[in-house]
Formats: sequence, C-alpha cells, structure tokens
Amino acid sequence: MENRDILVIGGGIAGLSAAAALSAHARVTVLEAEEQIGFHSSGRSATMVHYALGDRLVRALTFASRGFFEDAAGDFSDVPLGHRMPVLIHAREDEKAALDALEAEISVFAQLERLDANGVHSLCPLLKDDAVHGIADRNGTRLDPHALLQGNLRKLRGRGGTLITGARISSFERTGGVWSLTSDKGDRISAPIIVNAAGSWADEVAQLAGVAPLGLQPLRRTIITFDVPAGVQLDGLPFAKTVGDELYFAPESGRLFASPMDEVPSDPCDAQPDEYEVALAAHRMEERTLLKVDRIYSRWAGLRTFTPDRHPAAGFAADQEGFFWLAGQGGFGLQTSPAMAAIVESLITGTQWPVTDVAAEALSPGRFLRQPT
Ligand SMILES: Cc1cc2nc3c(=O)[nH]c(=O)nc-3n(C[C@H](O)[C@H](O)[C@H](O)COP(=O)(O)OP(=O)(O)OC[C@H]3O[C@@H](n4cnc5c(N)ncnc54)[C@H](O)[C@@H]3O)c2cc1C
Repeated sequence: MENRDILVIGGGIAGLSAAAALSAHARVTVLEAEEQIGFHSSGRSATMVHYALGDRLVRALTFASRGFFEDAAGDFSDVPLGHRMPVLIHAREDEKAALDALEAEISVFAQLERLDANGVHSLCPLLKDDAVHGIADRNGTRLDPHALLQGNLRKLRGRGGTLITGARISSFERTGGVWSLTSDKGDRISAPIIVNAAGSWADEVAQLAGVAPLGLQPLRRTIITFDVPAGVQLDGLPFAKTVGDELYFAPESGRLFASPMDEVPSDPCDAQPDEYEVALAAHRMEERTLLKVDRIYSRWAGLRTFTPDRHPAAGFAADQEGFFWLAGQGGFGLQTSPAMAAIVESLITGTQWPVTDVAAEALSPGRFLRQPT
C-alpha cells in the first residue's frame, strides 16, 4: 500500500487547487473517480468571475482570489487564465430597487458604473428597450477553466504531488491515526489526513467514512449555446445578467451562451440538460432581448452544490479525526478557488490566515452539527 501525508478526494477545481497549495508542505495525492479532471461541475460552468453571485462572504472570497487570476506567473500556466469581459447587470423600471441594493453591496468590492437606458444599450445593443437601468463592472473576467485546472495540476506535480484518475474511493478505514482508502478497482492508499473535495458527492463520501453529512444540496443548472443572425456584432458584448436570477448570456466562440439560472434539486450524478430548462433559456432570451433563438447549437447541465447557508465549508470534521471538509462551492467555486486553496493550506498546515475579511468560523463545517435538544 502506498503511503502519503494527505489524500485529496476529487479532481475538480476545489481538490486540485487545494492539493497544489498543500503540496508545498506535504506529500499529496489527488484521487479522482473519473478518467479526466474537471469532468463534473468544474468543466461545465459559465467560467465567469463577477460579484453578482452570492453574498458578502462569497464576494470577499472572490475579491481575495482576483489577483491570482491576473498575476499567475508563467510557471503556473503558459496561457492566460482568462480574459476581460465586462459584466452588465440590467433592470427594468420595476426592478430598480433591486438594482440599487445590489449596487450598494457590490460597490464595496468593485468599481461600478451606473448606466441609464442609453448606457445599457450602448454596452449591450441586444437588450430590449425595457432594460433601462444598469450597473457595469468593466473588470469582469471570463476564465479558461482548462488552464486553471491544468495549472494547478502542473503546480502539484512540480512539487512532487500525484494524481490518480479512475479511482473512485469506496471504502474508508481509520486505524492508528491513519486512513486507508480503497478504490472500487481495489487500489489501496493511506495517509493520516484526507480532504473531502468530492463536490456533489461530498456528503456521500463523508458517510462512507463514518462522518455526519452537512446536508449538501446539488442544484442542476443548464446552459445553451445558439447561433445569432449574420450581422449581429458579438465582439465587445458583456456578460449580461438580469438583476433577479432569471437569465444570463454572453458571447462564446462566435455564438451566444445563455442560462435560465435554473436551480433544480438533484442527486449527485452526471447531470444532463432537461428539455424544459433548455426551452426556458430560449424563451427568456426572446423575452429580454431582440433575438429569436431559432437553432440551439449545444446544451449542457452541471450541478452547483450548496451547504444549507450557501457558504462553503472548509475545516476538520468535529466527529472524526483527520477528515477535512472542502465542500459547498455552489455557483462560485472557480472564482473563489485561489482564496479557498490558501484557506485550506492555512487550516491544515498553519500558514498565515489569507483572507482577513472572512473568519475561519464562518467556514467551519461544525456550524451544521445539530445542537443537542
Ligand atoms: C452551469 C454552471 C455555471 C457555473 N458558473 C460558474 C461561474 O461563472 N463562476 C464560478 O466560479 N463557478 C461557477 N459554477 C460553479 C463551479 O463550477 C463549481 O462551484 C465548482 O466547479 C465546484 O468544484 P468542485 O471541485 O467542488 O466539484 P467538481 O468539479 O464536481 O469535482 C468533484 C470531483 O470529485 C469526484 N469524486 C466524487 N466522488 C468521488 C469518490 N468517491 N472518489 C474519487 N473522486 C470522487 C468527482 O468525480 C468530481 O470530479 C458554475 C456551475 C455550473 C454547473
């Protein structure tokens, strides 16, 4: 049996970025059930960095991560981790109060421009006339998730860490302060610490290890891409989002992508798009923009997995030694991954706490333990 210091279960962005950070201190191995990294949520996202997601805590984690996306050096990735894409949050007259409230929350973290109807339509001419208010963040970023995943893998390997794919961990044993894990193919590996970064499966993994689940809920979200009529100018279009969680769209390789921002409860699985949400995406595009969605080019779905309070969980389990939770990255797991990896590094190895705005207790998995009655 191979012995390591830390085993990370899950080769999505959460597991790989934490493993890369931990590998500066320890012998780390990532165990991924699928044959490739990023096969589930991390490979199916809208790949944006923006502040309209989540609440103050999520924004603080996003803010703390931004510098990494901009400054990651050539030894992390040969290609940029992302490119600038302005973010436009737009509102109808009856949605103005919601936009005002969102502007107040986001302006703590980003420089926003307030737009009137002219400003909204000059940034996004595709919107219907009833989009009369807007806020724009010209510094939005569209990430390259492949570069981000590969960069973390390269960093991990450069520090002596390893990745084993096709290794679905199905059995956990703890004896003498050491975990012994067995994959469903029979591979065995051991370490004193395991990091549960199994995304939508994190509660299932915990239960296999005899740890109480957190009450994670995977929610399915759908994206379509579609052709636009000849002559529609896509260059310079923003990531455009309704102030409520109804619709977002943005340019994507000569087409547009759009999501109806659905949140359909699901079991952990290889999520597939449902016809209803695909039709809803097209319907909302036609409701909010001047376009007709005649031909859908592609569609996919992925799971966004939330804790009960929609904040991520990072910390050792109170009910089992050597079991570290890294779960509940919801719809913000890519854009918060650098800060979350630094937090995991701090909690496990004692490096300086990296995000002064966020307290460790706010992320502690212990907050979900049932109080005795
Ligand atoms: C449609 C959509 C749009 C999104 N848009 C954005 C966005 O714009 N910005 C943003 O920041 N985030 C976005 N997200 C959210 C982001 O994708 C997730 O928060 C993030 O990918 C979660 O990463 P993860 O590593 O926790 O999960 P995953 O990527 O799912 O990785 C978990 C891995 O664990 C593995 N695993 C599970 N069980 C086991 C086991 N027993 N043994 C071994 N391996 C196991 C799985 O195979 C999986 O690969 C979006 C998500 C979706 C679906």
